[in-house]
Amino acid sequence: MFNIKNTPHISLIYASTLAVTAFALLIVLSVRTGLQIPNVPAFAGFILCGILVSVFGFPAPHVGYVSLDRVVQFASILIFGTLQAAWISGIALLIWSLLPRGDARYQDLRLSIVRALNNSGMIIIIVLMTGGIYEYFNGTVPLLQLNPHDALLIIILALFMQLTNEMLVALFAWFENYDWGKSFNLFSTIVELAAVPAAVFTAITYNRLATSIFLLYLTVLLLVILVVKNFADTRRALEVKVDELVAVNRVGRAVSSLLVLDELVDLIFRESRNLLEFDSFMLALYDETSGEIDIRLHHNRQGRQPQRRQKVGEGLMGWVITNNKPVFIKDWDKDDSNFKRIMINIGDTPQTKSLITVPVTYRNNVLGVISVQGYTPDKFSKPHVDLMVTFAGQVAVAIANARLFEELDQNRNELERRVVERTRALALQKDELHALTDSLRNTNHEKEELLLKLQQQTSELERQTEEDGLTGLYNRRFLDRRLGFEVKRAERYNRHIALAMGDIDHFKVVNDRYSHMVGDDVLRALADILRRQSRSVDIIARYGGEEFLLCFPETSLENAASVCEKIRQQVEGYDWDKIQAGLRVNISFGVAAAPPGYDVDQLIAAADERLYEAKHSGRNQVCA
Ligand code: GH3
Ligand code: MG
Ligand code: MG
Repeated sequence: MFNIKNTPHISLIYASTLAVTAFALLIVLSVRTGLQIPNVPAFAGFILCGILVSVFGFPAPHVGYVSLDRVVQFASILIFGTLQAAWISGIALLIWSLLPRGDARYQDLRLSIVRALNNSGMIIIIVLMTGGIYEYFNGTVPLLQLNPHDALLIIILALFMQLTNEMLVALFAWFENYDWGKSFNLFSTIVELAAVPAAVFTAITYNRLATSIFLLYLTVLLLVILVVKNFADTRRALEVKVDELVAVNRVGRAVSSLLVLDELVDLIFRESRNLLEFDSFMLALYDETSGEIDIRLHHNRQGRQPQRRQKVGEGLMGWVITNNKPVFIKDWDKDDSNFKRIMINIGDTPQTKSLITVPVTYRNNVLGVISVQGYTPDKFSKPHVDLMVTFAGQVAVAIANARLFEELDQNRNELERRVVERTRALALQKDELHALTDSLRNTNHEKEELLLKLQQQTSELERQTEEDGLTGLYNRRFLDRRLGFEVKRAERYNRHIALAMGDIDHFKVVNDRYSHMVGDDVLRALADILRRQSRSVDIIARYGGEEFLLCFPETSLENAASVCEKIRQQVEGYDWDKIQAGLRVNISFGVAAAPPGYDVDQLIAAADERLYEAKHSGRNQVCA
């Protein structure tokens, strides 16, 4: 299906057609009725008024523009008649639409022409229709007083005029791809309707009173318009401010929720796009220790630019950091400040036609800068600078927090690292200690073993020194020591003690007849017999070659003698053939005891004497 809106310049064609038709109609009607302009200054004055009220109008949201031009339009019908009124309004709107304006929306020349044609064409049609109907129904021109007929007619026409106007505006909005539904604005409708009584009053004042009074009235009217415009401008500015603050607040909250610096930088860039339009964005952090500017993020029409650093003494950003002041360049080509000279080209400079660079300051410390740049002049205005300053304040808090967090994180990591190191060192020390303890314990163990061995050796040595090697009986040395002690003890407690001296009979013969080895065997066998027959408290020692001394503590002479007798019999009855066939061995004993005397040597001598007796009395006997 053919879509009329897709045709290029459809709004231009429409507006041109409308304007040409309107002006052609106006000219034809003017020629046919032989239109005269009797009061040229008044005519020109009304055109001027038409332009002025429009100039002092104010933009309504979207396409609407609220002004009191309805006063001029309606009043001129009631003063000059329909045709002159159509000329006045048509020319006034044509001129006004072509006048240069600050608002970016009106920068486009094509759009200005389209608007001029549309506005003037539209108003001519509306005035012709309204005036035509008014005159057709015998409305009074010039209006000198308000009769019910004229009043009713004016009310109906005011509504009609408004309706027509709204419809034509909606049509134009539709052509220009605006939301035509939004072109209806209650406030502007009320203003336009309220303008009608003012227009009637203007007409009657003009028609009835002197020019000076009318001028006075116009002055008052202009004042009213100015006051209303001022109110509306303030309201609009406040609305914009509120919108901006809401946006900044939202952005601030979003930004402050992030603590990781890199992510934060990205978020700041994304959120700043919601605040204002720009072609290039830069966020740089100031590194105080190195005196460098760290350009963390640079994004322009070509996309993300590489991160880079520069000295703080260089460039515009350095100036902003050093001076802690924002820089605003509205139009690069018209700007004659020093900033252009110090600016460093980092990818955007040739295209940059406007810029805002603000410091990011937290508690009087400059943390960095944010810079937005436009590739067209007048991209930004003073309110944008304020907006960026506010935004930078929010960003500063977020960056300070993120830096603090990073610092804390680093400290925590450092602490953790140190704890790990310390733990490792301690573990090492512990291991070393363990090893040392182990080796000490080993050494101790070795020492203990050595000690034990030494003790064993010592006791062996001791034993050896006390023991007779051949028989295992105590030797003479031990006996000499021990005997004195035993005798003294018996003396102290006044107890009996007996000594017996034994000597093998004719031992020399055994050696001679059988061999020295057999002699030794006999000595060992005899020692066994002696051991078997004695008590544990008795001390049996080899006293010399084949002589034995027996000590019987707490034993009387008789008891000792009977023990020796038992031994003698045992020796006599022993199966000596086990050692050597035909071998016969006997032993003689001499026994002595105390009391009466406790002298060791006397006792031994006494025992020896008894032994001598035994030998001489035939051997193999006990003498006591
Ligand atoms: P008596 O009846 O008078 O005691 O005569 P006897 O031969 O036993 O006495 P005598 O003292 O003359 O001889 C002792 C001998 O004992 C001399 C020696 O050869 C011997 N004799 C001493 N010690 C040992 C020894 O350890 N082993 C051996 N086989 N013979 C020894
Ligand atoms: Mg002997
Ligand atoms: Mg002997």
